[in-house]
Amino acid sequence: MKVKSILSEGKQIQLATELVQLGARLQVLEASTTLSRERLVRLYKEVKGVSPPKGMLPYSEDWFTGWQPNMHSSLFINIYNYIIQYTHIRDIDAIVKSYQLYLEHVEVNHLQCILSFTRAWTLVRFVESKVLSVTACVKCTGNFLVHSLDIQSNHVCGLCHVPSRAGKTKQAAARKAKEVQEEVEIGEVCTV
Ligand SMILES: [Zn+2]
Repeated sequence: MKVKSILSEGKQIQLATELVQLGARLQVLEASTTLSRERLVRLYKEVKGVSPPKGMLPYSEDWFTGWQPNMHSSLFINIYNYIIQYTHIRDIDAIVKSYQLYLEHVEVNHLQCILSFTRAWTLVRFVESKVLSVTACVKCTGNFLVHSLDIQSNHVCGLCHVPSRAGKTKQAAARKAKEVQEEVEIGEVCTV
């Protein structure tokens, strides 16, 4: 029995290490592994060289419906749903795999990483609790995230209908800069 518990603990440490490397917050580690908070804090410090950021997790579902976040989040949830449908990978492992594929896509296409791991993890919870849903665009037939309350039969995605002034005005630039600043402050930037 002892051997078994050491093995399973080893697996938990391995998972937690991977999550820290992907940028997961402490709350995500606590929810996804069986390790104590104390051990997770120590592990976090060991892997990252700094203490885990304090404060609450980003919790607003509205973030996922902003134009650029929606593109990245929709990409991620499509990967995630594909993995759930066609493999036996589940739960946190499915989120990790999907997020790694999302990062690969971002890198190959020289895009900016917009979706942090913690947000991706939060997104899956929002979809599971049906706060957010996936719906098909009537023009390109791609699947995009929407508020469950906003599901319409004639949804047109942000790529088929790019807001004409998206990111082009001074106000938009200022808003973007403020958003980035906030993201940095709450630690929700892509860290890989
Ligand atoms: Zn479309």
